[in-house]
Amino acid sequence: MTGQTIERVTTVVIGAGHAGLAASKFLTDRSIDHVVLERGEVANSWRRERWDSLRLLTPNWQCSVPGLRYEGPDPDGYLTMTEIAEFIERFAKVSGAPVRTSTNVTRVRRAGDEYQVTTSDGEMRCRAVVIASGACNQPALPQFAAAVPVSVEQLTPFDYSDPGQLPDGGVLVVGASATGVQLAAELAQSGRPVTLSVGEHVRLPRTYRGRDILWWMDATGVWDERYDEVDDLTRARRLPSPQLVGTSERATLDMNALTEMGVGLVGRWAAVRDGRALFSGGLRNVFSLADLKMTRLLDTFDEWARAHGHDGEVGPPERFAPTRVPASGRLQLDLGSGEIAAIVWATGFRPDYGWLHVPVVDAKGQLRHDGGVVDSPGLYALGLPVLRRRKSTFIYGIEDDAREVIGHLAGYLAA
Ligand SMILES: Cc1cc2nc3c(=O)[nH]c(=O)nc-3n(C[C@H](O)[C@H](O)[C@H](O)COP(=O)(O)OP(=O)(O)OC[C@H]3O[C@@H](n4cnc5c(N)ncnc54)[C@H](O)[C@@H]3O)c2cc1C
Repeated sequence: MTGQTIERVTTVVIGAGHAGLAASKFLTDRSIDHVVLERGEVANSWRRERWDSLRLLTPNWQCSVPGLRYEGPDPDGYLTMTEIAEFIERFAKVSGAPVRTSTNVTRVRRAGDEYQVTTSDGEMRCRAVVIASGACNQPALPQFAAAVPVSVEQLTPFDYSDPGQLPDGGVLVVGASATGVQLAAELAQSGRPVTLSVGEHVRLPRTYRGRDILWWMDATGVWDERYDEVDDLTRARRLPSPQLVGTSERATLDMNALTEMGVGLVGRWAAVRDGRALFSGGLRNVFSLADLKMTRLLDTFDEWARAHGHDGEVGPPERFAPTRVPASGRLQLDLGSGEIAAIVWATGFRPDYGWLHVPVVDAKGQLRHDGGVVDSPGLYALGLPVLRRRKSTFIYGIEDDAREVIGHLAGYLAA
């Protein structure tokens, strides 16, 4: 016995990003006593873990959380990091969320039919825990990153702030999801020679028939598709983010746009051997697949517009040029030659559950849950990919998920 006081609360929410705050809003609406524990500040990820030039890729009209939506002068624009952090801060204020900042959760374990939560500030006991600590706590790097010669500087999106920070010389950006294409474009525009290693990706135009592509996704219900209706849920949860960027020109940032900026494209990085990066030769197939999937999606949008009588309100159907395959497809690159001074790993992110001492994390480091109901009574999650819908990780996707997850939690507490 340590004599230490243990604070009691019905529910602990971990993380004060928009997901944790949405959980708090619905807990408050149901008069369920709770606290939101945050290791940094409200909207910490947007303030500390993103690069300087980043803007949301979702348009402002889509910036909405329970009880608060963007009402500024530019609904079709894209928020900067400062603006989104301020928006989430406002959400915390208007919802009156009981946030405790600078409170790191270092351990959660089961104690009888409750949970014991250890924080940098003391011990707590609660009946339910909502994990809203984020899906992108750390960069996901391939194992062969360790075999890259030390002469080449390596950065992740967490370390990267702006092109000026990199040593002079060529940059190899690895990964062609939203992060990879945005960083490749920014580095190329700063005058550096950039090579982009491209694996499976999701190609999308920024606008289609005069509307933001995300308008189409929303209107046709693509992102409302529920997790229990998705054909291959494991695959859907691993899908890379779409190649989109939020700029005032509403420009498309696909492989053709990057080629025009002078970015050299190589295939998926498969291994490092004798100081050489070895790339897969399947670029043509990777490009055709991305083109095919985009065209199929646009077909469904056209079909929807026709069937619902919207053809007159939008522009005429468009089709986009196939992705151009580089004439000289390089299959390897000597990392010791000096051609590449830095590598930026845009190979995705993963959550960090190092503090979770409940056996609910699988061998791949992912939580075992059914639509946010974690495999341990009273334990819940929010903000994970396709948690309950395709839109689950997007800001505007949290409201429906949080309402349902907190509804389940309330039922658990009442039972
Ligand atoms: C680069 C990037 C760009 C994105 N762009 C968009 C976009 O344009 N539009 C969009 O809708 N979505 C976007 N997203 C997706 C998503 O909206 C963000 O990832 C968002 O930050 C997720 O919100 P969240 O509340 O789930 O997690 P987070 O915002 O990450 O919040 C989790 C919080 O938990 C805290 N925390 C973690 N561990 C602990 C602990 N042990 N103890 C206490 N606190 C802890 C963290 O400090 C953090 O504040 C983007 C994501 C990334 C990575």
